[in-house]
Formats: sequence, C-alpha cells, structure tokens
Amino acid sequence: MTMNDFSLKDRLALVTGSSQGIGFALAQGLAAAGARVILNGRDKVRLEAALQTFKAMGFKGIGLDFDVCDPVAVTDAIDQIEINHGAIDILVNNAGIQWRQPLEEFPPEKWTSVINTNLSSVFFVSQAVARHMIPRRKGVMINIGSVQSELGRPNIAPYAASKGGLKMLTKGMAIDWGKYGIRVNGIGPGYFKTELNKALTEDKTFSDWLTGRTPLKRWGNVEELAGAAVFLASDAASFITGHILYVDGGVTAQL
Ligand code: NDP
Repeated sequence: MTMNDFSLKDRLALVTGSSQGIGFALAQGLAAAGARVILNGRDKVRLEAALQTFKAMGFKGIGLDFDVCDPVAVTDAIDQIEINHGAIDILVNNAGIQWRQPLEEFPPEKWTSVINTNLSSVFFVSQAVARHMIPRRKGVMINIGSVQSELGRPNIAPYAASKGGLKMLTKGMAIDWGKYGIRVNGIGPGYFKTELNKALTEDKTFSDWLTGRTPLKRWGNVEELAGAAVFLASDAASFITGHILYVDGGVTAQL
C-alpha cells in the first residue's frame, strides 16, 4: 500500500444534498483528495452559492439541482451526468431531513416525507447509478446514516426507522452488487451543528446531556466526517464493503 491509495485523483463523485451542512463538508473532503464533485440540492439559489464557495476554495465542482425523492428526475439527472460529465466513480447518498414530534401526534405526511427522503431516495439514486456502474464492474457508494439507527431517543422514531432501514439497505446493496465490483458502506454521524439540528443546538439541556455522555465530550465538526468518506471511497478500502463506520465521538460505545 502507498499513500496514493488514498488519492481520489480523476474520480467523479456525486454527493446528494451537498449545498450545505455535512454534504458540503464531504464534497470538500473528496475534492481535497482529488475528485471532481457534483453538488446537489433542490434550492437553486443555495446550490449556486455553495458551488461558488466550492470553486473559490480551488475545487472542481458542478451543480445539479434535482429532488432525490423523484425517481424520474433522479434517472434523468444520473443519465445527464454520465453523458455530459463522465462516469460516476463515487456516489455519496447524503440528502436527508429530520422531523421531531411525539409519535402519537406525528403527521402521516411527515412520516412519508422522512421515509422517502432518508430511505427510498437512496434506493432510487443508487439503482440509477448502479445501472451505469455494473457494466463497468466498479464503483463506490457511501450512505450517510446516523447513530439513531443504534440509539433510541424521544420524538424521533420515524427518523430512527429511516436510518435503521438505511443500515440494512446498505448491507443489501453491498451483497447484491459486490459481484460487480461495487463497494457499498455507510457512515453513521453522531451529533453535528447543522441546519438539520438547529433546535437541538440551541437547547442547552440537550447539549449538556450530549457532551456529558459522549466520550470525547463535545459535538462533532462537519469537517471531521470527511476523512471517513475519503477513506471509504478510496482504494485504501478496496476490501471493505457492507460496513457502517460511526463517526460519533464514541457516543454509540456506551449506554
Ligand atoms: P442539512 O439540513 O444541513 O442539509 C441537508 C441537505 O440535503 C441540503 O443541501 C438540502 O438542500 C438537501 N436535501 C434535502 N432534501 C433533499 C431532496 N429531496 N433532494 C435533494 N436534496 C435534498 O442536513 P445535514 O447536513 O445535517 O444532514 C446531512 C445528512 O446527514 C442527512 O442524511 C442526515 O440525516 C445525516 N445526519 C446528520 C446529523 C447531524 O448531526 N447533523 C447526524 C446524523 C446524520 P435543499 O433543501 O435545497 O434540497
């Protein structure tokens, strides 16, 4: 093994939901390792702003707005990327949403939206990308899960269910597509101060509880997720598939 095995030079990566937060940090990490990155989100203005910042950092990026929950738009976008920008080497399924409410009051339309965005979309995007990767007999996919697939917490059951389902979808993708040379792994982030977690970030009681129970005694910084993504995407991880790597300051290590 050499340090070149960690390089993503000349690879094309698609990171869904990368116009802000964790996705944007993952896109920066992959680009720093040499990849060209396609940024994605639904809001065109936010996506364009992210793309400008990305380019100002000296990275090679392309912006493509599409809704990962719409299978027709997804297939169209993936086909467009393959025709106009080249073969997708790395797919990071990162787009996700969260809705917190006690289960007895949880609106059915919010249930549908959480499951669609966090779980069904990963099937839509991955299947569309796999159809291009399979004939090439290579490719890497990384699904962004959550520690909520391991830890129960109040008011978040549908989100936890979506991430629990994603954990098993990750293993199933690795099993079905391993014979085509496609590796599929997951990253399970702990707690990070993004827009998705705004309410928790501002809740001092929660913050005290979290930092108290996390072995590293703090929240994570989104940049701290990038190393895991670069490693799993790279040839340094060439025999690793079907795993979930928790990047969580140790929060899943203890009760
Ligand atoms: P943010 O809310 O900060 O960012 C979410 C991103 O996803 C945005 O770019 C948003 O853009 C995009 N997005 C949302 N829905 C769609 C859609 N249907 N189609 C395309 N893009 C979409 O969230 P985070 O960065 O915090 O979270 C990213 C991932 O990490 C999620 O899967 C989340 O579950 C996971 N995670 C986050 C943790 C945290 O502590 N923050 C902890 C554990 C897991 P737009 O709205 O314009 O579409």
